[in-house]
Amino acid sequence: MMNKKQRLSAEEMLEAIFYDMNLLVVEKDFYNSILLLTDLGRTLVNAERASFWYRDVRKKQYWTLAALDSERITVQEGSGIVGASIENNETILINNPYEDERFNSEVDKETGFVTKSILCVPVTNGCGEVIGAYQAINKIGEDEESKFDSQDIKRLALAAAYCGKTLEAQLLREQSQIDQLTGLKNRRGFYDYYDNNMASMDASQRAGIIVCDIDFFKKVNDTYGHNVGDAVLVFVADTMQKVVGKAGEVFRWGGEEFIILFKGCDKEETAKYAEELRCTIKDSECQCENQVIKITMSFGVSEIDKNISSEKNVKSADDKLYIAKQTGRNKVVS
Ligand code: GH3
Ligand code: MG
Ligand code: MG
Repeated sequence: MMNKKQRLSAEEMLEAIFYDMNLLVVEKDFYNSILLLTDLGRTLVNAERASFWYRDVRKKQYWTLAALDSERITVQEGSGIVGASIENNETILINNPYEDERFNSEVDKETGFVTKSILCVPVTNGCGEVIGAYQAINKIGEDEESKFDSQDIKRLALAAAYCGKTLEAQLLREQSQIDQLTGLKNRRGFYDYYDNNMASMDASQRAGIIVCDIDFFKKVNDTYGHNVGDAVLVFVADTMQKVVGKAGEVFRWGGEEFIILFKGCDKEETAKYAEELRCTIKDSECQCENQVIKITMSFGVSEIDKNISSEKNVKSADDKLYIAKQTGRNKVVS
């Protein structure tokens, strides 16, 4: 949350707006953009604090970023002034929060902060759907009694509109990297992750890669139908994520083929994960449409070589997978 006490003159405000806008133009990081936009909103309405809340429909939560550490703060859907603004697509202006039932005064009680005035505007995407909200707290004015007014609503709407565009672009970008069926990152997500995490490693850092594939998956489709096949893919994705936890990043490479990247693991450690995955998959049952389906998977493991391209690193593990398939399946080759 952006925090400042000093009131700006008209000229100082204009200066601050252009300063933020210039930084925004060159800023490529989404979270830094959001922080800049949050500060812009705070400046525009001369508020002590401002926060931009993103609506996570899937998790039924809203989250915002703390200014200094960029950590997320999350609250449950529907709660507080932000909740009312988002759920009702409504601009809310409150100059007597402690007398307003929508206001949760518990946070103030805990932190010692005194909320005097609140302005909250919903943020919408190109289709008019509410994707977040912008909240400004405590108008800084000539005196202690300063209130937000209709001019502030117009001004905050400007920052909200810009925020909406930035957020929408980011959401579309994220969606384009997610596989709809399994919720895993897809091939596009793989390259993005690889470029951000593997390509930038220094010489002393190691990383492993697993390319794996379900054995005789065509038979599952042929025997039980495509829906059950889909359920098996979801089951495999969930199982793999559970087994590797935070140690690895799982991707759906395509069809019934998956890749897992392990930052900080050498080949032996990566092969251990592959073996654990193989055993877990082999020993578990996927239940769908009153059927119990058992499958096995084959795995190719290698260590990331930073001197060659991502494609060549994938090929290296894929070649091992090919050997696993040729020599009996349900096995790890490293
Ligand atoms: P192998 O052990 O050699 O890997 O044999 P396989 O049968 O698993 O491999 P094959 O490449 O012959 O068949 C893969 C099948 O995966 C064919 C395709 O229809 C199916 N498949 C790919 N994507 C999906 C999907 O999203 N859903 C479902 N249900 N099936 C899919
Ligand atoms: Mg297969
Ligand atoms: Mg395959």
